[in-house]
Amino acid sequence: MKKFLKIDMHTHILPKHLPKFADKFGYGDFIHLKHNEGGSADMYKGDEYFRTINASTWDAELRMKEYREHNTQVQVVCTIPVMFSYWAKPQDTLELSKFLNDDIAQKVLDYPKNYIGLGTVPMQDAKYAVQELERIKEIGLEGIQIGTNINDQNLNEPEFFPIFEAAQELDLAIMVHPWNMMGFHKMRKYWLPWLVGMPAETSRAITSMIFGGVFEKFPNLRVNFSHAGGSFLPTIGRIEHGFNCRPDLVAVDNDINPRDYIGKFWVDSITHDPKLLEYIIDLQGSNRVSLGSDYPFPLGDLEIGKFIEEMDLPDKDKENIFSNAALEWLNLNKSDFLS
Ligand SMILES: [Zn+2]
Repeated sequence: MKKFLKIDMHTHILPKHLPKFADKFGYGDFIHLKHNEGGSADMYKGDEYFRTINASTWDAELRMKEYREHNTQVQVVCTIPVMFSYWAKPQDTLELSKFLNDDIAQKVLDYPKNYIGLGTVPMQDAKYAVQELERIKEIGLEGIQIGTNINDQNLNEPEFFPIFEAAQELDLAIMVHPWNMMGFHKMRKYWLPWLVGMPAETSRAITSMIFGGVFEKFPNLRVNFSHAGGSFLPTIGRIEHGFNCRPDLVAVDNDINPRDYIGKFWVDSITHDPKLLEYIIDLQGSNRVSLGSDYPFPLGDLEIGKFIEEMDLPDKDKENIFSNAALEWLNLNKSDFLS
């Protein structure tokens, strides 16, 4: 089989040690880590246990070793969404963001052919967010990861426009990741926030940005939506029909058909389902579907696109999904990663 350069554009990473931000700032359920004997660490949100992570969440060399086992050379790393901390005082979120962004920048400096970095910014305060975007550019990151909502505000809100404008001007990519899932407290059993809430959150983000005219205002913004765009693409028929039958409700800020935006933004490949991925490639074009895994978490595609390698797709489509789509989204050159 043909050997492809594989870039996994959806992976999460943390510094091995986090300061106790709650003690430092004197309030709030900031995430902290308790390292265990066996080499794992428990994440706590205030006093509440969140999840156990292992060394693959922070150890750059171990990550690269695991990636080599799946023929994948490059990983685009960003923090874990629970770290966004948009609920905190903006200057505190800024300090936390800098800490996380500097850690990612160091990984990129240490392993420039293996790591590409996305930062995080205090989205709840455009002034601080833009300030950190400028710094992110200077320290060598290629974009930012943001939440599907910002403290329950949708991404069409004008208060976010200066951030989108700055990202466009600084030539920084945006990855939109579900978090703070709608209905979280009403459906905690059966992991429903992750199985039902997350795909809905991502559709919420895409539809908000389309109907709010964000892509019209910032036509050069390069946005990639997690988990294959969540439920947006599978329900585009319904969304388009709603736009056509009730423009008085839907088309109040933008009168362009939502279907026209398909293929203008990127989505990752995390579907766990070849049939669905085929449908998404049909809609988006393979140059707008980028290999993602959600490594190192169990709900991710931890074989890093093996199911895509096994699909009966033209080599050109595989090459697009494995590297070209991500490179175009990040505005990077393939030659920088060929070793
Ligand atoms: Zn993820």
